[in-house]
Amino acid sequence: MTIYISTAVMQCLSLEEAIDVLASIWRGIEIGHSHLDQLDVLRALETLTRVLMHGKELDVELSVAHMPMSHIENVFVESMDRGYEITRKFLEVYSRYGIDIVVMHTIPLPIDISERMEQHIVRELEFNKRVFRYLDTVAKRLGIRIAVENRLEKWIVGALPLDLLEIVDGLESIGICIDTGHAHVNKLDVESTVKLLRDRIVVAHVHDNDGSRDQHLPPMMGSIDWYKVSKVLRGSIPIVLEISCKDSVERCKNVAILSVEIGRKLFG
Ligand SMILES: [Zn+2]
Repeated sequence: MTIYISTAVMQCLSLEEAIDVLASIWRGIEIGHSHLDQLDVLRALETLTRVLMHGKELDVELSVAHMPMSHIENVFVESMDRGYEITRKFLEVYSRYGIDIVVMHTIPLPIDISERMEQHIVRELEFNKRVFRYLDTVAKRLGIRIAVENRLEKWIVGALPLDLLEIVDGLESIGICIDTGHAHVNKLDVESTVKLLRDRIVVAHVHDNDGSRDQHLPPMMGSIDWYKVSKVLRGSIPIVLEISCKDSVERCKNVAILSVEIGRKLFG
C-alpha cells in the first residue's frame, strides 16, 4: 500500500510550490482539484502538464490524481460532447505522465422545473451511467483507471454506495474512491460503507470531521472511529490523505507532517 498526501493541504501556495514543499515531507503526492479549479480549462491543462513534468524531475510518486471538479461539471452542462472532449483531454495528460488512478465525481444535472425529484434522480443516474460507460473505453485505451468518488452533496446521485455500485457495474477501468469524510457527514457508517463497496474500491480519500460538515481534517481530529476504519481499509489500495489547509505556509506544512505521521501509524 502507498500513502499519498493531497496538494489540498497546501492551498496557500501555487501548485508547483505546494509540490516542492510536500516533496520535502513525503514522496507520495496526489494532485488535488482545488488549485486546478481556480484556473480556466486551458490554463488548468497547461499547469497540470508543467506540474507533472516537475514532479518527474523531483522523483515524487504521483500515481493518483484528482480530476478538476468545476470544469468538468460545467462543460457537461454545456453539452455532452464538450464534456467528453474536456474530460478526455485531462485524462490524456494524466496518462502521458504515468498517473494510474484519476479520481472523479459524478456529474450533477440541472434541475428541470417540470420534473419531480424522483424523475430527476433517475435521469441523473442514467446520465452518469452513460458518461462512465464512455469514459471506461477512454480509460482502457489510455491504460489508466478512473475512481468515482462518493459525493458530499446528498441531493446528487453518487452520495450513496448502491448508486456508485450501479454506475461502475460491468465497467473494467472504472472503480470507486471511498471518501471517508463525505460518508461520515452523510451519516453513513464508514466501516460498513467500505465493506459494502470493498470489491470495487481502488483508492481511498482519507480525512476526518465532526459529523456536521466537510472539514477535511487529519484522521483522529474528528469523530470517525479510525481503529475500525483503518482495519477495513488497510490492504493493497492507495490511501490519499485529503487534508485541507488554506492557512500560512508554516501551519499547512505542520498539518501535512502531522497528517503523514497519523497516516503511517494507521495505514503503514
Ligand atoms: Zn475526496
